[in-house]
Amino acid sequence: MALKLFNTLSRSVQEFAPLNPAGKKVGMYCCGPTVYDFAHIGNWRTFVFADLVRRVLEFSGYDVQHVMNITDIEDKIIKRVNSLKSSSDEAIKRSDAQSLQHSIASTLQPLRDFTGKFETAFLDDLKALGCREPHVKPRATEYIAEIIALIEKLIARGVAYKAADGSVYFSITKYQGCGCHYGQLLKLNFDEMRAGERVSSDEYEKESVADFALWKARVPDDGDIFWPSPFGEGRPGWHIECSAMSMKVLGESFDLHLGGEDLKFPHHEDEIAQSEGATGKPFVKYWLHGAHLLVEGKKMSKSLENYFTLRDLLAKGFTGREVRYLLLTAHYRETFNFTLDGLHGAKSALARIDECVGKLREVGAPASGPARTASQLAGSETGVPLLANFTAAISDDLNISAAWGAVFEWVRETNKKLAENTLSSTDAAVNLAAWEKIDSVLGISVKTETEIPAEILALAEARTDAKKAKDFKRADAIRDELKAKGWVIEDSPKGIKLKKCEQGIIHQL
Ligand code: AMP
Ligand code: ZN
Repeated sequence: MALKLFNTLSRSVQEFAPLNPAGKKVGMYCCGPTVYDFAHIGNWRTFVFADLVRRVLEFSGYDVQHVMNITDIEDKIIKRVNSLKSSSDEAIKRSDAQSLQHSIASTLQPLRDFTGKFETAFLDDLKALGCREPHVKPRATEYIAEIIALIEKLIARGVAYKAADGSVYFSITKYQGCGCHYGQLLKLNFDEMRAGERVSSDEYEKESVADFALWKARVPDDGDIFWPSPFGEGRPGWHIECSAMSMKVLGESFDLHLGGEDLKFPHHEDEIAQSEGATGKPFVKYWLHGAHLLVEGKKMSKSLENYFTLRDLLAKGFTGREVRYLLLTAHYRETFNFTLDGLHGAKSALARIDECVGKLREVGAPASGPARTASQLAGSETGVPLLANFTAAISDDLNISAAWGAVFEWVRETNKKLAENTLSSTDAAVNLAAWEKIDSVLGISVKTETEIPAEILALAEARTDAKKAKDFKRADAIRDELKAKGWVIEDSPKGIKLKKCEQGIIHQL
């Protein structure tokens, strides 16, 4: 079934056809997190949406190269790092020994240490939300040479210039003069634009259609955060980072570019201008934008202080899969309000699916002999209506409401058959195979079996041996070692139990 997606560039739903029609390879870039704080679940709505797009493409048979950058140098990051520095300066003035020690340590940690902490937290959350890890995660600070080369190319082509303040700007007038179009994703009002006006901030409003910074000359407020360049000491603007990283990894033209709807302007518009201004080739074939997650009708955001991080919700007893389910309930182009009630609803919806899938596992398990493997059943699941209904829905511009409709219809029908005892063991196994295929897109099933690494099993055995030999000191040391590796060991009358502990959540195996 042909996959259709809404392309912001054409403002219409289009059939997806990769740039390279001969192959099945697809390049997909999603603007990643700005690592100056923990991501909130509004941010996560966009990243779960990107994960859904990737999974649907893979479900449709494409070989996706998923790239998600890490924005580790940007206005907000510099402000944060420098505010840590100024609090340290304050502490020095106050000679408060305790806070002095603490804040100096914070100030002296290099930029990478500051952003690294939030990058790690982001990747942990990504996992907890069941997202497939992007294949490439370029950090902006590791692409400074590519960024500088791209700016040099833009200067050579006459669409960028060094201003009196030492910064390098992109010239919208020169770009338009070359026959290029600025305003591909949004209709822009050029009448408001005044000659010579320019913006240096990374984020600005639609009304500010003005030359924007590619390279920002070093200013005292930047502290020690700068790189040398042919244009002078400074740092890149946010927009050029994504152009340089995406083209370096995926080539000058690639298939899909994603982000939240607030990135359409200026970020994505500027990415198009920089990339097409440098190469003269179309940058991206399909632009996909996800709508915002709201709180009482307003965009969830740090500045409005109306946000929850994933960690806040885990602390309230919800799980990553419940949050994922909730974020996947609305169509990606529709805003929706986040509520804790919504999360309670997610809990009960998942319980219904889990119960049905659990019963299918019981009925589908052969009375004797080994369990049927997916390859033994391959193909038979296509007869299950769930698969056809779900595929039709999700291929239609990710019609998630219809897709969930197909899932819950199947749950109802299956529960009925299970209650009537009219589902054979083979039918159950085939239904399970269909569900597993669907879940490769939804990513919400709890894995019933987690493989226990050989190293962990060996440690568990060594602990049992130590206990038998009454060497309790060694047994306790091994228990601690297992804990440090993320495994909890429990003794029960039937023997030992190993449980995996991730993000403070223990998974029963
Ligand atoms: P940032 O870390 O601020 O660069 O944002 C990362 C991603 O989150 C971007 O794609 C934003 O568009 C997206 N985003 C920010 N706020 C929301 C929200 N309330 N709902 C959905 N996406 C959001
Ligand atoms: Zn970007």
